[in-house]
Amino acid sequence: MNFFQYRNGRLYAEEVPVSEIASAYGTPLYIYSARTLHRHFRAYDEAFDGVPHIICFALKANSSSALLRSLAKQGCGADVVSGGEIFRALKAKIPSGKIVYAGVGKTEEEIRYALRSRILMFNVESENELFEIDRIAGSMKTKAPIALRVNPDIDPGTHPYISTGLRKHKFGIPLEDAFEYYKAARKLRNTEVVGIHKHIGSQITRLSPFVDALKRTLSLIDELCVSGAEIRYLDIGGGLGITYKDEEPPVPHDLAESLLPMLKGRRLTIIVEPGRSIAGNAGILITKVLYMKAGKEKDFVIVDAGMNDLIRPSFYGAYHHIQPVEKRKRRNILADVVGPICESGDFLAKEREIPAVRQGEYLAVMSAGAYGFSMSSNYNSRPRAAEVLVSGKDFTLIRRRETYSDLTRGDIVPPSV
Ligand SMILES: *Cc1c(COP(=O)(O)O)cnc(C)c1O
Repeated sequence: MNFFQYRNGRLYAEEVPVSEIASAYGTPLYIYSARTLHRHFRAYDEAFDGVPHIICFALKANSSSALLRSLAKQGCGADVVSGGEIFRALKAKIPSGKIVYAGVGKTEEEIRYALRSRILMFNVESENELFEIDRIAGSMKTKAPIALRVNPDIDPGTHPYISTGLRKHKFGIPLEDAFEYYKAARKLRNTEVVGIHKHIGSQITRLSPFVDALKRTLSLIDELCVSGAEIRYLDIGGGLGITYKDEEPPVPHDLAESLLPMLKGRRLTIIVEPGRSIAGNAGILITKVLYMKAGKEKDFVIVDAGMNDLIRPSFYGAYHHIQPVEKRKRRNILADVVGPICESGDFLAKEREIPAVRQGEYLAVMSAGAYGFSMSSNYNSRPRAAEVLVSGKDFTLIRRRETYSDLTRGDIVPPSV
């Protein structure tokens, strides 16, 4: 359930007709529902109520300052993968003690920034990185709180580009080596081992990969415990899937129900890092039909949003439901919904049966709240879209549409050219 529903044939975002927002701010336009966002966060928070826990929203899914600020107010933490995301999290007043930092390529500058900011922990992805963090912490006369990101070699059964927990992936430390790495970590003088981390992939629609991965991780924790290491934080990552088309993924309650019994009697604070399942269905992308073009085998609906606005269809072959903002009785057509970008890979839908839309009307690309705007770019020198947040009857601009001068803002033309 979300708060984008038709009423008398008009698509609403909560209590506001989508066409009204689109007329006010133009297209392409991202619209988010505050209620949906909060409902999804609370679903996690309540599901893990039985144990000490921190829900750390994965910023890479959507790093809008307004969204982060409103999640922060609800008590949300942050899962970050760059210095820039630490900056965004802190700016949104997410407490540094609720920030966890993963990623295989942390730079010295980013590590220093994270240490200065006193984040909760580094999720360390290699032995090299572990030594580097220790060295930097030493030079700053501080101690780095770390967890090792273990790679439990679990196939999450999802798209190859978004599975991360297999041996062949660049992420984490092989589970069977992790014990040795922990031993090494505990000998380091400027490092404090506080936790363990795993994240096996994204858009996972079954519970068993989570259960299997947790089992493997818990046996490592037991082994570590015997050796005298104290693991306080167990970070189980994110990755719960959402409904884009007809998937029926488990909800946070199901996830907690299958994992919590395994955690009984352990003195662990559980960290969960959901991204997509909090933001994905809390946002839609509104686009306008520019042209209709009849083809021999299929039609082309040419819209004003392209792969620079929403890259998931082009990048992952991802399905996004597309529907007219104003419903009326009409026949269906078989069409590619394509953007204005000069790439054959620029499409929002391929060979899709959709209602016969007309030039000038608005379409809603659904489930676009995660990995939508955050993956957008200026390719083809297209200013990035505006973003609006709806809450009940109110809606406010939370990011202005970029202008042409934004495009050249950082450019330098030396006198010598
Ligand atoms: C991307 C990512 C997440 C969030 O994944 P979702 O599928 O959006 O829930 C969580 N943790 C880490 C380390 C990630 O890289």
